[in-house]
Amino acid sequence: MAAPGLRLGAERLFEMPAVLERLSRSNSTSQAFAEVLRLPKQQLRKLLYPLQEVERFLAPDGRQNLHLRIFDPSPEDIARADNVFTATERNRIDYVSSAVRIDHAPDLPRPEVCFIGRSNVGKSSLIKALFSLAPEVEVRVSKKPGHTKKMNFFKVGKHFTVVDMPGYGYRAPEDFVDMVETYLKERRNLKRTFLLVDSVVGIQKTDNIAIEMCEEFALPYVIVLTKIDKSSKGHLLKQVLQIQKFVNTKTQGCFPQLFPVSAVTFSGIHLLRCFIASITGNLD
Ligand code: GDP
Repeated sequence: MAAPGLRLGAERLFEMPAVLERLSRSNSTSQAFAEVLRLPKQQLRKLLYPLQEVERFLAPDGRQNLHLRIFDPSPEDIARADNVFTATERNRIDYVSSAVRIDHAPDLPRPEVCFIGRSNVGKSSLIKALFSLAPEVEVRVSKKPGHTKKMNFFKVGKHFTVVDMPGYGYRAPEDFVDMVETYLKERRNLKRTFLLVDSVVGIQKTDNIAIEMCEEFALPYVIVLTKIDKSSKGHLLKQVLQIQKFVNTKTQGCFPQLFPVSAVTFSGIHLLRCFIASITGNLD
């Protein structure tokens, strides 16, 4: 299920420092990403490919059978995706509006991706990290009890829309399920749902409700593991293997690759941007 248009695999590029060097000097690579490419190899791998880093703790023959990585773009493709997420005069990245009901949602024709997860899972931090190349975008957070939680819509140039859905679980508004359920069922241009799971505690009861919802509506969705900087490597590996097994054996619509991320170290953020750019047709 590799995304179309992806060039040399990550591992092959790592074997060719000259290619990385050329890429870091290319005019099409942003200055920020050029600096990333100059990081020592191991740090670069950890930042761009957190799953590869986790896999290193498995016996070599175990790695081959697990197929943890299906989406494995080169740093070149990751650099192209970063450009899509970079705000410029020609690529406006803006908050559009908020809605409490689907019939109040803005009518945006572009492909859409949405982020759902339990309150406190790290959703606003992740969305802020994804939009760090558009520092003027304000990721609105309304967490005070009693405040109506809304769906927030963000436009990424002419490319796609990102929707921040209200958090569920503790303190979720009563009409939350109705709002999210209706959105997931009815939003025509919804391309992918990103379901956030805290990598420290794994899949919780309330996460299962969201998973069941995605399965019932036959939605394509992806599990993103948040806060990976908080776990030891051993704990993270255990969670990755457990959740990967769950995805392989108990789900139909879930993309068979997990996306571990940290909004603190930025590990996995560039890869997630690349995946979003790819599934919305912006890396073809
Ligand atoms: P939300 O309720 O899902 O939007 O969660 P927030 O983004 O507000 O995060 C909840 C808490 O987790 C906050 O204290 C964040 O600082 C913390 N947090 C979020 N992401 C990370 C992460 O990647 N690493 C660490 N260590 N803490 C995080």
